[in-house]
Amino acid sequence: MRRFTGDTLLVATHNPGKLEEIADLMSRFDLRVVSARDHDLPEPEETGTSFVENARIKAHAATQATGLPALADDSGLEIDALDGAPGVYTADWAETSNGRDFTLAMTRAHDALIARDAPQPWTGRFCCTLVLAWPDGEDAVFEGRMEGTLVWPPRGEQGHGYDPMFQPEGHDVTFAQMDRWAKNRISHRGRAFDRLVTIFE
Ligand code: IMP
Repeated sequence: MRRFTGDTLLVATHNPGKLEEIADLMSRFDLRVVSARDHDLPEPEETGTSFVENARIKAHAATQATGLPALADDSGLEIDALDGAPGVYTADWAETSNGRDFTLAMTRAHDALIARDAPQPWTGRFCCTLVLAWPDGEDAVFEGRMEGTLVWPPRGEQGHGYDPMFQPEGHDVTFAQMDRWAKNRISHRGRAFDRLVTIFE
């Protein structure tokens, strides 16, 4: 596997919650982490139908625009009783005319489960696909998942997105009730990073 030898990594996300988690996960390396916002990059349209396609779109657009190696994360929540929805449309379920509203997104997920009369426990998983793209067009893909159950009402104030509704397997608290270090140790993103970091070591 190609090793990372540069001193700067561009994190191709406009999502502040993801950026904060990724900066924490990369802090053990002597690396300058810059974001898509620092470079004023436009948000490319995520036209893919899988996490890996969308992560590739974001990583390649960012590396082509800046000449820096770029890391993109595409992630989402799959709920078994909803046939894997929202999946690649996880962020879309939060869209409103005034920006993203994750209380609304979680309510949509809950309403869909109730409408289907889905028996509890409501199982599902967070999935994360990381793509690291180099300016010469090569890329590498790393994946991680965390199984869990969807709970209602949402619990906890930390984290981002659907965290208050997701209780990871083997724990009796939601992601939003964990501090970010504890979440990163077990999360889908943390697991994908465990695979990614081998190319920085
Ligand atoms: P995208 O990868 O930017 O298309 O968006 C993925 C969406 O999945 C985010 O906007 C969040 O709503 C959700 N998501 C991804 N990872 C997490 C997480 O760790 N906690 C909660 N929600 C997440």
